[in-house]
Amino acid sequence: MNTREPLIFDKTSPGRRCFTLPACDVPQKATSDYIPRKMLRNQDAELPEVSEIDVIRHFTRLSQLNFCVDTNFYPLGSCTMKYNPRVNEESAKLEGFTKLHPYQPVEQCQGVLKLLYDLEHMLRDISGMSAFTFQPAAGAHGELTGMLIIRSYLEKRGEKRHKIIIPDSAHGTNPASAALCGYEVESIQSNAGGLVDIQKLRAAFTRDTAALMITNPNTLGLFEKDIVEICKIAHDAGGLVYCDGANMNALLGIARPGDMGVDILHLNLHKTFSTPHGGGGPGAGPIGVTEALSPFLPVPRVGLVNKNYVLNYQYPDTIGKVRAFYGHIGMMLRAYTYLLTLGKEGVRKVGEYAVLNANYLRHKLKKYYDIPYGKTCMHEFVISAKNQKKKGVSAMDIAKKLLDYGFHAPTVYFPLIVEEALMVEPTETESRETLDGFADAMIRIAADIEQQPETFHNLPKTTPVSRPDEVKAAREPRLKWDHR
Ligand SMILES: *Cc1c(COP(=O)(O)O)cnc(C)c1O
Repeated sequence: MNTREPLIFDKTSPGRRCFTLPACDVPQKATSDYIPRKMLRNQDAELPEVSEIDVIRHFTRLSQLNFCVDTNFYPLGSCTMKYNPRVNEESAKLEGFTKLHPYQPVEQCQGVLKLLYDLEHMLRDISGMSAFTFQPAAGAHGELTGMLIIRSYLEKRGEKRHKIIIPDSAHGTNPASAALCGYEVESIQSNAGGLVDIQKLRAAFTRDTAALMITNPNTLGLFEKDIVEICKIAHDAGGLVYCDGANMNALLGIARPGDMGVDILHLNLHKTFSTPHGGGGPGAGPIGVTEALSPFLPVPRVGLVNKNYVLNYQYPDTIGKVRAFYGHIGMMLRAYTYLLTLGKEGVRKVGEYAVLNANYLRHKLKKYYDIPYGKTCMHEFVISAKNQKKKGVSAMDIAKKLLDYGFHAPTVYFPLIVEEALMVEPTETESRETLDGFADAMIRIAADIEQQPETFHNLPKTTPVSRPDEVKAAREPRLKWDHR
């Protein structure tokens, strides 16, 4: 593959045009006849002068430089980069949905309201929660919404609790969301097995504590087997339990957080429920709550009255709106299609295969890499490259080498409690052949690190950009063509 593609400006040839049309044979208006003169530019815009085929080839080549789930295996832990069936896109682009206006009277949008109503019931069945809102635009936004609900609920009870407890294995968004809502965050150290330390939790969860924020399965890919007791500790102390369910793959159709005692749960439709994601594209982080918390959900909520779907605003305890209109409807169309095409059996198979695939890889790799926590895993597992690091090869070097083998790198350096972490989440949509290919590459890398560790430092060699300065790229992005 040619990995270099010049800027389209560098392909300019003065006078070259994208089209040829016969001379105009009707009277022509001057631009200034219909656009006020003061709004017109004085000089022509500096646009590239290229032919149509130049444009097509340029952008097609650029699109092929993208590394994506549609081209290669993408085991990015915690991100659930599963394949997203095309039928989801077909239903999301149906005109009946895309041409709806959010201010249209509800009598004219019964279809989409029914869809939201039904999707809410499906997610209730899957999660064991009593009610959902679809407004939050992403997982972290769901967390913030959850924190606002917890605060309103406790205030209504006349309680001033100011602390949220979060295990040290949590996703970085958890403490950020709690802090944004004005809570003090107390981190508790995981035990030697990588799970919540029950003794430490009991000691930390005081009358000042509003809630525990827990991820289950946690970010080490382990199921918190004491979850029922954990919830009881929080409830006995008068607090609540928030569960980060961004990655629900392992539990789908098998176990329900609502049955375990969780009070609030967010789901990432753009992870577990198959919407393409990454690059900041639209997502959806619906949250589900218990009956007791449901009066605090954002409004409007979709209801069914005498066979008519309605948008209900009459909830005096609501925290209000957290998003314009009703959230990202396109994501809900995709999730709804996904669930309908899977059916109950299929949903459970997603869970089973996600866990099977992760354990298959884990088992193949454990002779070659240190896997510090757990004997089996849920939908993901975390490798520590600390032995490879002793030879001078870091988790980052391994990740870069994988790109040269045609695999997206696993998540690196997260969770923070694992030294030189590589977090692998294969997802259920990959075949055994693909998993074997990835395992072979990882095993070859382990062998090469023994023999020739010095070859790992200037990789990757096959990508358009090798090792960008990631901090500089984020802080000082150069996003436009500058001809000077
Ligand atoms: C992805 C993720 C989030 C955040 O979700 P966004 O949609 O990126 O805001 C939170 N928690 C966990 C465990 C995640 O994997």
